[in-house]
Amino acid sequence: MTTKLFDLTGRVAIVTGGNGGIGFGMAQGLADAGADIAVVGRNETKSAAAVEDLRKRGVRAISVATDVTDKAAVAKMIERVGKDLGRIDILVNNAGTSIRKPTHLLELDEWHTVMNTNLTSAFLCSKAAYPALKASGHGKVINIGSMMSIFAGSYAPAYAASKGGIVQFSRSCACAWAPDNIQVNAILPGWIDTDLTRGARQQVEGLHERVLARTPAARWGDIGDFAGIAVFLASPASDFVTGTAIPVDGGFSVMS
Ligand code: NDP
Repeated sequence: MTTKLFDLTGRVAIVTGGNGGIGFGMAQGLADAGADIAVVGRNETKSAAAVEDLRKRGVRAISVATDVTDKAAVAKMIERVGKDLGRIDILVNNAGTSIRKPTHLLELDEWHTVMNTNLTSAFLCSKAAYPALKASGHGKVINIGSMMSIFAGSYAPAYAASKGGIVQFSRSCACAWAPDNIQVNAILPGWIDTDLTRGARQQVEGLHERVLARTPAARWGDIGDFAGIAVFLASPASDFVTGTAIPVDGGFSVMS
């Protein structure tokens, strides 16, 4: 029997931050490839709307209200997905936030907020999902980094540290879990039009024009740009791809 390279029928994916922005774009792609989806976020109104959209794509979808920085809540979320959807094959660690202040103005609680949301959450969710991912026989973890996994973030040091950490965390899990046939990879988005960057565009004068000038594709990314990479990294097509960090950036990271 041949495996269909990009077919996710019968597979179950958890997408943290799947109720909006890049996470929603990835959830839509995974659903179109046949995966059932658990949308994980705090805002239940946004999650309900996302679930409605995903169900219209012909798959099962549930919302699990969870703060991914809370270890007990994450454990409950993993249990609920296993119970309601029966298995876990794919974990997308996408929830994220940013606080734009240079190091000398950043408070310790702000540092912790960003690190916990962007990096510790990936650890908590990966660790809690590991037994189910291993049991699936073909687990996939997709972690969301940033251009600041590569470049400095002078005005966002905690964000840059968390996103650099995501890459090393991905590599570490990739090596540790290869014997379990779990592949772990990171996606590094360029500048994408979402709620997160709409705030930055308002705060930082000239940002919009600078992004256009610095991006060879000469546009901001949109959430639909993440459907394909999510399906690739979640599907049998990427079974020999692990520990990588793939830019989805319209060429931003190679622009001279
Ligand atoms: P959004 O602000 O649109 O989405 C962030 C998502 O994270 C929301 O769905 C939010 O859901 C969820 N979230 C935040 N904190 C928590 C929490 N404590 N518990 C559970 N869910 C949480 O941003 P983007 O779509 O832009 O960002 C998604 C990811 O992509 C982030 O990791 C971000 O760093 C990364 N990224 C984005 C780029 C861009 O240009 N937009 C560039 C590079 C990386 P809720 O509010 O319901 O909790």
